[in-house]
Amino acid sequence: MTNINNRRAHRLTAWLMALAILVMPLAALGQTRIEAPRNKYNVQDDVKAGQQAAQQVYQQMPMLRDEGIRSYVNSVGSRLVSAIPSEFQHPEFRYSFDVVDARDINAFALPGGPLFVNRGMIEAAHNEGEMAGVMAHEISHAALRHATAQATETQKYQIGSVLGQIAGAVIGGPIGGIVGAGSQIGFGAGALKYSRKYETQADILGAQIMARAGYDPRDLANMFRTIERQGGGSGGPEWLSSHPNPGNRYERINQEAAMLRVNPNAATQDTRQFRDVQARLRGFPRARSMEEIARSGQQNPNQGNYPNDRRNPNDGRYPNDGRNPQDDSYGRGERVAYPSTRYRNDGNNLFRVAIPENWRQLGSEGNSVSYAPEGAYGSQGITHGVMFGTDREQYSDLQRASQQYVNDLLQAQGNTYLRQSGGFQRTTVNGRNALATTLMGRSPITGRTERVTIITTMLGSGDLFYMAGVAPSDEYGTYQRTFADILRSLQLSNQY
Ligand SMILES: [Zn+2]
Repeated sequence: MTNINNRRAHRLTAWLMALAILVMPLAALGQTRIEAPRNKYNVQDDVKAGQQAAQQVYQQMPMLRDEGIRSYVNSVGSRLVSAIPSEFQHPEFRYSFDVVDARDINAFALPGGPLFVNRGMIEAAHNEGEMAGVMAHEISHAALRHATAQATETQKYQIGSVLGQIAGAVIGGPIGGIVGAGSQIGFGAGALKYSRKYETQADILGAQIMARAGYDPRDLANMFRTIERQGGGSGGPEWLSSHPNPGNRYERINQEAAMLRVNPNAATQDTRQFRDVQARLRGFPRARSMEEIARSGQQNPNQGNYPNDRRNPNDGRYPNDGRNPQDDSYGRGERVAYPSTRYRNDGNNLFRVAIPENWRQLGSEGNSVSYAPEGAYGSQGITHGVMFGTDREQYSDLQRASQQYVNDLLQAQGNTYLRQSGGFQRTTVNGRNALATTLMGRSPITGRTERVTIITTMLGSGDLFYMAGVAPSDEYGTYQRTFADILRSLQLSNQY
C-alpha cells in the first residue's frame, strides 16, 4: 500500500504552472542573475530526501576510506560551499563530501547537501580547478534545489512516496545500475536527468561560485571537455548523461567567466596537494567500475564501515522488474521474514511505539513514518508493515474524518486496487476513542490479496492520526498479533 501524504497541498499547487524566469541576464551587474526555480517543497523536504538517498548510497556504493584524500576533498568542498551566494544558502542544508571508490567519471549531489565524487572524476581532472568545477556544478544543483524543483514540475499529480521518489530519482543515475545489476549502468528507470535550463543554471552558478572561491571559472568549462575526451567504455558519458549539455556549454561558461572577477585572495589553479592526491590514488589498486561493483553483488561495499543492513535486491532472490530499481526491496512472492517477537522503541515527536526488531524505519516523510521488514518496501509502498501519520480533514468528527481519510487513501495513486471492506468498528488508541476499518485487494506487487487495517483517532490539534497495518491476507494471522502489540504500545504525545 502506498502512503498518502500532503494530498491537498498537491491539489492546491497543481495549477501553479507559471515558470520562473530562470536565468535573467543583467549586464549591469556584470554577471548573470539566477533565480531558483519554483518549488512547492519545503527546504526540509530536500534535507530528508537527501538523507534518505545518502543512506542508500552508503549501503550500496564503496566509499574510499583514505583520511588524507577525504579531508582534501572536504577542504575544497567547504571552500566552495562558503562561496555560495547568500540567497542560495539554506541554513538547514548540511554539505558533506565523500569519495566513491569507483572508476567511472561521475559525481552527484543529493538534495540538502550530501555530495559524492567518484575517484574516477578526481583521476580524470587535470588540476584542482577542474575537480572543483564539477563540485561547484553539483553544489549549485543542490543549492538551487533542483531535485525538488524538478519534482514540482513533473509530479504535480503524484501522491504517495514523493520524497522516496525524489531520493530514488536523484540516485537512480549513479546507483540505479547497481540495484538493477546487469542492466545498463547509470540509467535506472528513475534516473534524474536534469533539464537543460537547470543545467545552464548549475553551469552559471557553478562558475560564479568558482570565482568567489578563488578558482578560475574557466576550469569548469575545461572539465566538460576533459570528461568528453574520456568518453567511451564505462567512463565519460555517464556524468554527461545526467547533466546534458544545454547547448554551447563550453562557450556559455567562458562567456560568464569573462564577466566574473576571480577572488584575489585566491588559491592557484593547481596545487601540490591535488597532484599528491592523484599520485596517491595511482598507488591504490585500480578502482572497480560501477558495473563491476554491481556484478560483484555488493555484498558489503564498505567492508563493515557503513551500515549495511539492507539485503541486496540483486543477490538472485529478488528479480527486479526495473520499474523503480533504485529503491525496491520487494520479495516478489518470496516470503518475507516473520516479524520478530523482540521489540525496540521508536517514534518521533508525535508518538512512541514498539516495533519488531527486524523492521526498519523507512525515511519518514512529511507527516508520516513507515516500518517494514526487508523485502517488503519500495517505491510502491509497503507490502508488510505499519505506517503512522497525521492528515488534516475537513471534518472534526472522528467518523466523518476517518471516512474522508479512507476515501482519499483509496483514490491515491498506487492504492486503487484496495476496497473498504465493511464499516468502522470502535476501538481505543492510547486511551482515546478510535475507529478501525479494513481494506482489501489484490496487491500488484505480491500478486496476493492484501489486507490493510486502518485505525484512526482525533488529535487535540484537530488532525486525524492514523496507523495502518499492511500484510498479505494469508499471513494476516501472524501479523495481526504484531499489529495488536504495536497498537498496545502506541503512545501519543500529549502535546497533540
Ligand atoms: Zn548538472
